[in-house]
Amino acid sequence: MELIDTHAHLMEPRLFSQLEELLTRAVGAGVSQVVVVGTTLADSVAGVAACRGRVGLFPTAGIHPNHVAESEAGDWDSLEALARCGQVVAMGETGLDRHWDRTPFPEQQAMFQKHLELAGELDLPVIIHSRQCETDIIDQLKALGRPVRGVLHSFTGTEEQALAFLELGLHLSFAGMLTFKNPSLNPLRATAARVPGNRILVETDSPYLSPHPFRGRTNEPARAVETLQVLADVRGVPVEELAGVTTANARALFRLPSADRLAVGEMAS
Ligand SMILES: [Zn+2]
Repeated sequence: MELIDTHAHLMEPRLFSQLEELLTRAVGAGVSQVVVVGTTLADSVAGVAACRGRVGLFPTAGIHPNHVAESEAGDWDSLEALARCGQVVAMGETGLDRHWDRTPFPEQQAMFQKHLELAGELDLPVIIHSRQCETDIIDQLKALGRPVRGVLHSFTGTEEQALAFLELGLHLSFAGMLTFKNPSLNPLRATAARVPGNRILVETDSPYLSPHPFRGRTNEPARAVETLQVLADVRGVPVEELAGVTTANARALFRLPSADRLAVGEMAS
């Protein structure tokens, strides 16, 4: 079985400090490729550097909505230059967040718009974060007036919102929350069961959102398997089959060369 973790923040110190062990465990779990998602200019630059010379790790360039306020005047220009270097596989993590409210909302929207426009120009997919902002994001994407290639990551919205994102052209990615035992998440599992097979992805959002039975602990790419298993159960398909489907989707969306796979012992830069 082969799977891809489409969303991991491997530059977070608690993950980067144990990168080799963590990638060994990922390979052991069947994870062949990881999208290393940037959240600030510095994090994106570090991700690009860390992925260079390593097979199976693919960096992105983005400024997360919760980090927009702390970004400096020239950060966007530097991020744009990084995105144009040809090594990043997506723009993001970008999007909108009303939960933490660390950045005035119009500033979040302006930065999200910059990511969307550059992604369109460079023909890169966009990785979108939404926290209590599904309607705002749908409105902003509709205003683009074109389909959007990308993913709504760690989707936790309603079925109606899922349909709206799918109509806009996005993939939906599921993370550890799908595995939590809370009955309040049953509607999310029901929605996940109905997402078209060609638009569904799995991710960990490491080091966050660790799946059951590791809830509350530091998450890592190997645990994409737990989410994949629950997703397969709710969809009533064998886990190997869903692994194949989600892997093909991730590879097509992020244009990951299938030959560049994590391999134990090959990972030193
Ligand atoms: Zn993230």
